[in-house]
Amino acid sequence: MSALSEFELIKRYFTYPAPGARLGVGDDAALVRVRAGMELAISTDLLVAGRHFFRDADPRQLGHKALAVNLSDMAAMGATPRWATLSLALPKAEGPWLRAFADGFMRLARKHGVDLIGGDTTRGTLTICVQIMGEVPAGQALLRAGARPGDEIWVSGCLGDAALALAALKKRMGLKRRELAAVERRLHAPTPRIALGQALRKLANSAIDISDGLVADLGHICERSRVAAVIRFESLPASAVMKRYLGLPTARAALLAGGDDYELCFTAEPARHQTILGIAHRIGLKLTCIGTVRRRPTRAAPAVTVVARDGRPMDVKHRGFDHFG
Ligand code: ADP
Ligand code: MG
Repeated sequence: MSALSEFELIKRYFTYPAPGARLGVGDDAALVRVRAGMELAISTDLLVAGRHFFRDADPRQLGHKALAVNLSDMAAMGATPRWATLSLALPKAEGPWLRAFADGFMRLARKHGVDLIGGDTTRGTLTICVQIMGEVPAGQALLRAGARPGDEIWVSGCLGDAALALAALKKRMGLKRRELAAVERRLHAPTPRIALGQALRKLANSAIDISDGLVADLGHICERSRVAAVIRFESLPASAVMKRYLGLPTARAALLAGGDDYELCFTAEPARHQTILGIAHRIGLKLTCIGTVRRRPTRAAPAVTVVARDGRPMDVKHRGFDHFG
């Protein structure tokens, strides 16, 4: 690749010690050892310029986000992230861009004890593909299937801020400069809920991370678990900025169906309620009970119903983000 050879580029920007691996970057394959009694959890996410992020996105935030969305999948499984690979297509090899991107990526990786153990680098439209691998005690992974009628439905953090930021950036609504700054961080630098995922093992009956919007992702739990969900609009956790704009349909749609929040949605028996509030306190993350899992009489019945304060079902037009919808 241009002045800097591909070899030099990998050596300079993507080669780091990998204490948790037998062999990291530099050979034809990396070698890792999964600890006894653990299962390997594997997930990958592809980010394409112009589709998943703005072409001129800040490279440091992009490095962070590329790993964060993958860590979020580990969180949703209750897994401990251990290793990642990074495959990049780059239009050109620009030193400062690569330095910032690698720094954003590695900073988050180190924070979670994740080793970068390999990848691939080629020329092309800016595309970032991360594969994450983690460990979870055998049989304890949190699955989408497993929600049972009677379970309470919970979400972490606040919902919809990332979508609110995107709506403002795309000029679909106005936000004050300070408000935009507050919600924009949620869009560009999401926080994967790793500690929560691990705390929920043996506690939650099902879990998913919210990448496509609450209604869509809770819908996935319902489909896999063959149940229905009823959520109370009034209970949905909203940030101070979000609360100010809830009069607008765009903001309500962001709260219910905005993607890119990377909070966790999970279900657990009501007997677990206090334990879950205890976890919220211990890890310093708000956890809110937003509704209940119900039986689903037929597949034609809606998976997710949102009820207003008066108990009546709301009309939810925007059900989530679908790249082929
Ligand atoms: P190969 O020809 O066997 O695919 P490469 O020359 O593409 O090998 O890569 C050399 C080494 O660098 C391999 O260990 C590969 O995993 C690693 N690597 C390549 N690109 C990246 C990257 N963007 N991030 C981390 N490691 C990388
Ligand atoms: Mg290669």
